[in-house]
Amino acid sequence: ASTNVGFIGLGNMGGFMAKNLMNKGHKLVVYDVSKAATEALAKAGATVAKNPADVAAQSGTVVTMLPNNDIVTNVYTGKDGVFEGLQSGSILLDSSTVDPSVPTALEKIANSKGSFFLDTPVSGGVIAAQSGELTFMVGGDKQIFEKAQGVLSGMGKKLVHCGGIGMGQAAKICNNMLLGISMAGVAEAMNLGIRLGLDGKQLMDIINNSTGRCWSSEIYNPVPGLMPNVPSARDYEGGFYSGLIAKDLGLAQGLATRTGSPIPMGALASQIYRLMCKAGLEVRDFSSVYKFIQDGQKI
Ligand code: NAD
Repeated sequence: ASTNVGFIGLGNMGGFMAKNLMNKGHKLVVYDVSKAATEALAKAGATVAKNPADVAAQSGTVVTMLPNNDIVTNVYTGKDGVFEGLQSGSILLDSSTVDPSVPTALEKIANSKGSFFLDTPVSGGVIAAQSGELTFMVGGDKQIFEKAQGVLSGMGKKLVHCGGIGMGQAAKICNNMLLGISMAGVAEAMNLGIRLGLDGKQLMDIINNSTGRCWSSEIYNPVPGLMPNVPSARDYEGGFYSGLIAKDLGLAQGLATRTGSPIPMGALASQIYRLMCKAGLEVRDFSSVYKFIQDGQKI
């Protein structure tokens, strides 16, 4: 198989991940439905393919970073999809956050064509995507995981094999359920404190040195004006869309139902982000839950 790396889905995360692979010396063949996204990578030296099948035809490893279950399934199995152009012996890595049933089905098809598939979702957000310090949670064959480390380590610094196919997604969905809950919690605590007359910066510093400390308060605070270089500093543009965390909380609800696991906090957080999507915040960063709690309005 070719030593080229294919990359499909060059959005808020994929754009940085693909650039990091190029910086590490990999030759990239890319595709995205957005022309603006592919042009940015072409400028950096990537080859732009016609469609996912064309990416697969030119690459021995293919990484996908796409929004959701349906789009991922379609990009692999649809017309002009990855499976139409696949070279045998290729390794397919899906880093999107999707239901574990998606990689389970795609692995079967990949294997039937003499290729391999791993679920490789990531954590760390756009900040870690940009710096190449993502955590990869990987499901699938351990030997293939070892073979894929050269590519994965070009985008992340912690690579964890979580078990069989779909187990990376299981870990990711648990993490993101907690993230959705903690971001909403930080937003409501900060809003209450500020309304009580506390200084936002001081309250943030107190929380970050106290038991309420978490990634949402310390690295990605949702209150505008307290931190530079986070979505709350730029009207919640870019980052991790509310529509995507709502999708992840929906995935968590499905898995909780399947396993009979109570998730009262996850269920409440799920409804909060779903309401935010209806209020016009679907393609704003999810930390805009602060604005939603503050005044219930769109930005
Ligand atoms: P995004 O919406 O910014 O990017 C998705 C990209 O996919 C876009 O460029 C879009 O044009 C492209 N796309 C859509 N349909 C396509 C198709 N049929 N063929 C080719 N390209 C297509 O989303 P993102 O924030 O980069 O997230 C991608 C995935 O990673 C999601 O599953 C998300 O849940 C997950 N994720 C996001 C973050 C984050 O912080 N943003 C962190 C971890 C995981």
